[in-house]
Formats: sequence, C-alpha cells, structure tokens
Amino acid sequence: MAASLAFEGVTKRYDSTQALAGIDLTVEPGSFVALVGASGSGKSTLLKTINRLVEPSSGEVRINGEPTSSLHKHVLRRRIGYAIQGHGLFPHHTVARNIGAVPELLGWPRQKISARVDELLNLFSMEPARFRDRFPYELSGGQQQRVGVARALASRPDLMLMDEPFGALDPIIRARAQQDLRRIQQAL
Ligand code: ADP
Ligand code: MG
Repeated sequence: MAASLAFEGVTKRYDSTQALAGIDLTVEPGSFVALVGASGSGKSTLLKTINRLVEPSSGEVRINGEPTSSLHKHVLRRRIGYAIQGHGLFPHHTVARNIGAVPELLGWPRQKISARVDELLNLFSMEPARFRDRFPYELSGGQQQRVGVARALASRPDLMLMDEPFGALDPIIRARAQQDLRRIQQAL
C-alpha cells in the first residue's frame, strides 16, 4: 500500500550549519517526487528525516498522518525502502541474499523469499538463473545499483527513498535505469 507523506515546518541544524529551514511539503500516495538541488543543499538530510536516520531539530514528518516521532525506529524502517548512492550491498552475500535480506529479517518463508528475488531480478532485466548466485564484485556498476534498488523494494515497502541511487552511472545507462524504475513504479 502506498503511503502519503507530509513535512510540517521541518528544520535541521548541525552545530553551525542550518541544513533544513522550515520545510513544508506534501507527497500524495503513489506519486514519484524528485528533489533537485546543489550539493550540500540538504537533499540527503531531508530524506533521512523520513526514516529517522536524522532527527529534525523541530517540526514533524507524518506518514499517513501519523507522526514518525511516535513510531519505533525499527517499525518505521521496515515500512520504508532505502537505496543509497554506491548501492551499499553486502559484499560477502550473493545477489539473492542481498535482495532477500529484509524479507529474511521479517521471517518470510524461504520459498516466498526465493520467488520474490526472482520476480525482482526479472523486473530489472537480470535473468535470475544468471545473476542470483553471483557476488556483488561479479556485477557491473549498473547491475550493482539495480540490485541495491531491488533490495529496497523487496518487502513491498509503503515508501521508497532513493538517494542518488544511480548517481555513479554514466548518463546513457542512468537514463535507462531511470526509465526502468518508472516502468516498475507504474507496474507496482
Ligand atoms: P545534499 O544531500 O543536498 O548534498 P546534505 O543533506 O548531505 O546535502 O547536507 C546539507 C548540509 O548539512 C551540508 O552543509 C552538509 O555539510 C551538512 N551536513 C550533512 N550531514 C551532516 C552531519 N552529520 N554533521 C554536520 N553537518 C552535516
Ligand atoms: Mg546527498
């Protein structure tokens, strides 16, 4: 189920740096929103206030009207997929284990995890038989980033946060990955 998101007067100060100054923003369920801004303008900080990797200095973030400050962090983060620049894959785990990491934490049965891994690999145009048993170092940069996004989607989160997930790709491959993501968002 897609979730709505609202920022109400969200401020973040790191010592002398005012990273966020009174952010008011509403995001409708099922929509796709991109934050555009110069390096250091506070994009990552704003994203991290949603899953409380960063606690706002003041203001409130709400998911479906519910203040995130009233939820336990682990409950909150289970509902939110998070993909970061440079993919952040576990280097000693296969593609299948990387993608299945959160479902495994949630105690899904093995069969269901395996089916979900194959479904996501297919969505990202990576043939399961060829890719599920590889390690991250056996993938191209673009494939690693796709697996990072697939992992964030695995447990069907209500919200997906992506912090420049395709930032390290060259422009042509990046455009293709973005088109794939748009297609996947519409399909799901
Ligand atoms: P962006 O993602 O748009 O590049 P960030 O949200 O990472 O911007 O950073 C916004 C500002 O906050 C920058 O000036 C950055 O140096 C500062 N900042 C980010 N994280 C921290 C931190 N943990 N401690 C101190 N300052 C930080
Ligand atoms: Mg950033």
